[in-house]
Amino acid sequence: MSSQCDCVFCKIVAGEIPSACVYQDESAYAFMDIGPVADGHVLLIPKAHYDTIDQMPASDAAAVLAALPKLVTAVKQATGCEGVNVLQNNGHVAGQVVSHVHFHIIPRVTGDRFAFNWPAETYPDGVLNELADKITRAITD
Ligand code: 5GP
Ligand code: ZN
Repeated sequence: MSSQCDCVFCKIVAGEIPSACVYQDESAYAFMDIGPVADGHVLLIPKAHYDTIDQMPASDAAAVLAALPKLVTAVKQATGCEGVNVLQNNGHVAGQVVSHVHFHIIPRVTGDRFAFNWPAETYPDGVLNELADKITRAITD
């Protein structure tokens, strides 16, 4: 099957660009990241093209994420890491470079060099519940 669009990950799924595939099924494709931030860095993607996760039908999101536990288990076993970060950069502002939904599985060991800037704050009175209500009302189906 040839890729429908000019997308590097669609081309990988179609076999037009080589990749080190570690798992695939009807909906999901997982392969080694070519620019690993840790040894064993794997990408899990839907075989279908979606730019961002909010464009995915819930059924395809569920089908793709069904592969996540076994992939995390396999990455932990193969690399001997102590944990992983599952990271999904959604939108350019969030660091997404490849516009085809993907989940990074990043092996972590104590003292490694991977780090987040996590500027946790606290809400002024009432704002947490206001935002919770707003998000709840915005959820459809
Ligand atoms: P993003 O910043 O979009 O969340 O991450 C994109 C990831 O895709 C990067 O970690 C990058 O190394 C990886 N990547 C980009 N092009 C290729 C490719 O052609 N093959 C593979 N295996 N990984 C790629
Ligand atoms: Zn694509």
